[in-house]
Amino acid sequence: MKLYEFQAKQVFASKGIPVPRGEVAATAQEARAAAERLGRCVVKAQVHIGGRGKAGGIKVANTPTEARDYAQAMLGKPLRGLTVKQVLVEEALDIDREYYLAATIDRTSKRVVLMASAMGGMDVEEVAANHPDAIIKHPIDPAYGPMDFEIRAVMTRAGFDAKASRAIGTIAKQVYHVMLDSDASLVEINPLVVTGAGTVVAADAKFEVDDNALFRQQALAAFREDSEEDPIEAEAHRRGATYVHLDGDIGIIGNGAGLVMTTLDLVTRAGGRPANFLDIGGGAQADSVREAIEIVLMDPNVKGILFNIFGGITRGDEVAKGILAGTESIKIKVPIVVRMAGTNAEEGRELLEGTNLVPAAGPIEAAEKIIELAKR
Ligand code: GDP
Ligand code: MN
Repeated sequence: MKLYEFQAKQVFASKGIPVPRGEVAATAQEARAAAERLGRCVVKAQVHIGGRGKAGGIKVANTPTEARDYAQAMLGKPLRGLTVKQVLVEEALDIDREYYLAATIDRTSKRVVLMASAMGGMDVEEVAANHPDAIIKHPIDPAYGPMDFEIRAVMTRAGFDAKASRAIGTIAKQVYHVMLDSDASLVEINPLVVTGAGTVVAADAKFEVDDNALFRQQALAAFREDSEEDPIEAEAHRRGATYVHLDGDIGIIGNGAGLVMTTLDLVTRAGGRPANFLDIGGGAQADSVREAIEIVLMDPNVKGILFNIFGGITRGDEVAKGILAGTESIKIKVPIVVRMAGTNAEEGRELLEGTNLVPAAGPIEAAEKIIELAKR
């Protein structure tokens, strides 16, 4: 799960990482009022993508009226395809230097790796591509956490201004601890600004939390609803479903993440385009199957549904009952192909006989069938 910049900055502030004074606004009037309190400010579109500066989503406003006008121009409009629902109005900074500071998980070393560069700011992607040496990477030993000498070495290698190093070193440690405390997979500050007065502030924030840790990250989970862009995903998650919205037209429902991923591949290989990923999990009961159909059909692009069920814990007859219950209680106008194997698959298939659900012997046949039926 990605946090919005303003949410990430709330987390930063709560952990002692300095951030600019700022307020979130959902209307142009609110932005104006915020600017009256803040003085010269920047208006920042809140969307889950970087490069907002280059796309026109970051504007410096000299007066409250200007702030209102910039907010007006951003709110409700798309920025690189994502609708801007809120802006963050922040005190403008007197920027002397722009650095890059981040922590992420490195799967090879199985450690949190700290990253630092003196070439921060809007072109860091270009720096990463053309001057990879300018980004210093340092894995942290989880037994000790970041040691002062290591952090000093990283900052020296990165070429950070010596006068700002004490403040940045503290922030680097905080970033590491925020990472662990929040079960984050990425914490990125770009730019980390050194002001004309020599203070250091996190002017931007990117923050990604491991979805699987949200059960123990109540405070972060509360951000979830607000941070979701896709209304169908938001509704699916409210209902507790493991659902990812895709842009095709074949709805996919299966049990087990691996099986569902494979089904997406099979449909794609057969020339179709999956509309979603939906894993009903192990031991799925009739109710959750019906719910799954409802969720998949919230997407108006869906022209057919493919069920791929392997019975282990999940019993074929249970799933069949769920599919029947689902087809009874909601009007389904699209074809449904069902492939079932494993525990009680035979019983499941028998239950589906005489209905308008199309059985398939194997997963490949199932993929081909649903693509064919969806075309009609
Ligand atoms: P991004 O383009 O989505 O990464 O958004 P950032 O928050 O990083 O802002 C982009 C750029 O705006 C920064 O790299 C700064 O160079 C520039 N900028 C100019 N004035 C300010 C300011 O007062 N605050 C912030 N945050 N950025 C500013
Ligand atoms: Mn940035």
